[in-house]
Amino acid sequence: MAGLSLAYYLHRSSLRHKKILIIDRQKKTRNDRTWAFWQEGEGAFESILYRKWDSIWFHGSNGFSRKLSLGKHQYKLLRGIDFYTFVHQELARNPQITFLYSPIQSIQSSNDEAIVQTEAGEFRASWCFDSTHVLQAMKPLPDQGFIYQNLLQHFKGWVIRTDQPAFDPQVPVMMDFRIEQHDECRFVYVMPFSETEALIEFTLFTPALLSQEAYNKGLRSYIQQFTSIQNYEILEEEFGIIPMSDEPASENPAPRIIRIGTGGGYTRASTGYTFTRTQKRLQQLVQNLETSFEESPVTDKVIPALNYFYDQVFLNVFLKKRVSTAAIFTGLFRKNPAERIFRFLDEETNLTEDVKVIVSVPILPFTRAAVDVFKRNIQEIRQR
Ligand SMILES: Cc1cc2nc3c(=O)[nH]c(=O)nc-3n(C[C@H](O)[C@H](O)[C@H](O)COP(=O)(O)OP(=O)(O)OC[C@H]3O[C@@H](n4cnc5c(N)ncnc54)[C@H](O)[C@@H]3O)c2cc1C
Repeated sequence: MAGLSLAYYLHRSSLRHKKILIIDRQKKTRNDRTWAFWQEGEGAFESILYRKWDSIWFHGSNGFSRKLSLGKHQYKLLRGIDFYTFVHQELARNPQITFLYSPIQSIQSSNDEAIVQTEAGEFRASWCFDSTHVLQAMKPLPDQGFIYQNLLQHFKGWVIRTDQPAFDPQVPVMMDFRIEQHDECRFVYVMPFSETEALIEFTLFTPALLSQEAYNKGLRSYIQQFTSIQNYEILEEEFGIIPMSDEPASENPAPRIIRIGTGGGYTRASTGYTFTRTQKRLQQLVQNLETSFEESPVTDKVIPALNYFYDQVFLNVFLKKRVSTAAIFTGLFRKNPAERIFRFLDEETNLTEDVKVIVSVPILPFTRAAVDVFKRNIQEIRQR
């Protein structure tokens, strides 16, 4: 997603005459993921959105359910396959862009060029934008060194078709916490495509994955318990793992290498949302390169320090189970308009709005988490 997005923005910039090589281990030909995200106004991929909505349902704990209007925002859905096809078609018009399908073996950098080793040979360039970096949360934990607060967002989704109308195509369910929590964070979301077709996704924030059968069971029991559906067929399946971690982003780890996407730290650690930040960040990097191609385009932190701290505190509350996640999100959506939460997560709120969001979560567990994070951060600095 990040690599193709970057190539798309470069192709539409004054840098379109530069030679670009896009390397992936294989061509994207399947609908392997669907991106849901909120946005104010139109985005770069507006013409290929699969659906967009003006309101959402939130079902929280203690019987709290509310249909939330999104104001100036819309909740949007983009299918992976539509994105891959669209970007490939656009890039095919640019003779300077070449694709290579081959596994990357190593990425190195001297002071003035990046060197990428693949099974198909070695390539040198002024810049290498690397979206293959794997974060600590996705690896077995190291024996030594500082262990970050690592959580996984893992989920399985089915696109189902029912024989009777069962969905309201005007309103998706963004989070449904009414399912059995098992002292963890579990919720379902439902993205309706029509009255008879929807993507239903069973999602967890936990350190370890479940068996595939456990996800299937979660989906089956949700459909049975919370919908009127009797008969349905599964049209598509998706499975995903998103790292939720406070591992600091190393966006510019060597002079000519820029990490992008999840590996560049673009994922919001408290929610797993990555799509919108990727688009914003990459447009900013391209603008910086347009201004000064030889300078590193990374000129600031991908997540401002204060927002990074908020994410650390959320992660700490989730990991230490200081209070149920359902209660946290219920407090947030009960006491704030959805737009304020979206703007908070997009780092667009001012301090007064931040305070309004902060006081809508349980104060004592969050204060304990903040103290713990503060201590951990000092420990990390000492171990560096
Ligand atoms: C199923 C799923 C659903 C998601 N849904 C949402 C959502 O609704 N909203 C949201 O904001 N985020 C979502 N995410 C999170 C995030 O937006 C996606 O993971 C997104 O694809 C991340 O973009 P990326 O470019 O960092 O990684 P990817 O899109 O995974 O791209 C990395 C690329 O690197 C290639 N690669 C890796 N290693 C090598 C190698 N050694 N050699 C050659 N090529 C290599 C891979 O083949 C891949 O094409 C979802 C993630 C998944 C997995």
